[in-house]
Amino acid sequence: MALVDHRGRVSYRREVETPLNVKRPELISSLVNNIRGILKESGLKKKNIVGIGIGVPGPVDSEKGIVRYFPNIKGWEGVPLKSILQARLGIKVALDNDVNAMTLGEYRFGAGRGVENLVCLTLGTGVGGGLIINGEIYRGSTMCAGEVGHIPINEKGPRCNCGGIACIERYIGNRYVLDRSKKALGKKITLERVDILAKQGNKKAKAIWEDVGRKLGIALTGVVNLLNPDLIVVGGGVSKAGELILRPLRQEIRARAMKDQAKHVKVVRARLGDNAGIIGASLLV
Ligand SMILES: [Zn+2]
Repeated sequence: MALVDHRGRVSYRREVETPLNVKRPELISSLVNNIRGILKESGLKKKNIVGIGIGVPGPVDSEKGIVRYFPNIKGWEGVPLKSILQARLGIKVALDNDVNAMTLGEYRFGAGRGVENLVCLTLGTGVGGGLIINGEIYRGSTMCAGEVGHIPINEKGPRCNCGGIACIERYIGNRYVLDRSKKALGKKITLERVDILAKQGNKKAKAIWEDVGRKLGIALTGVVNLLNPDLIVVGGGVSKAGELILRPLRQEIRARAMKDQAKHVKVVRARLGDNAGIIGASLLV
């Protein structure tokens, strides 16, 4: 949670853990109490706050402010979070999916400044994606667009949590990269350690990031051909590997995508780091 001004500057930040198996009323009360706490600590009054923007980890109806469901927390099917919080706090609330919020943040104040069409990716446990088309978030017919992580890259392959087969997430999600790293580098390895080793020149570690970059490049080739974006912004924990992933990724796109699209698109790292989602959420207001 943070206080953000109209230029996207974060002046106050607080991190609150979401306990596993937290019940909905408790989580809502925690949100309300923390928001009140932030106002108190910062010395601001309600009237100083234009609104509260929230990026939620799951699909939402952003117009009505209703959470569809959370893939990782039970009991959130069809919850009108916007009206609940507005009633309890007396401040205007705007909701969107967290990856859409991050995309908006990078578009307005980060790596995507000045372009019209961009794809924003976040690499972590899951592979999330957000789209800006003609300067606006593209949400799709039922607000589910942008699921870059669930683009299949093979005809046959492992079954994905989403129900699909051989989704890119099923190959480059953190868990799967870690499994492969353990096989190559030993059981005690962590992704942070893979990153350090790769940057020191360890061939096995480098090969792991290269594989992630190449596979992602294959999935993104379809995206580049379909949408003809100016820019692909890559964020999330794994993106810290930087050029070790981005170089092979660009190579695949250049080798596979159609000529004009491939020539035009740029692939860069996200610039706002952990603040992208928070800054983007403020822009929802
Ligand atoms: Zn999937």
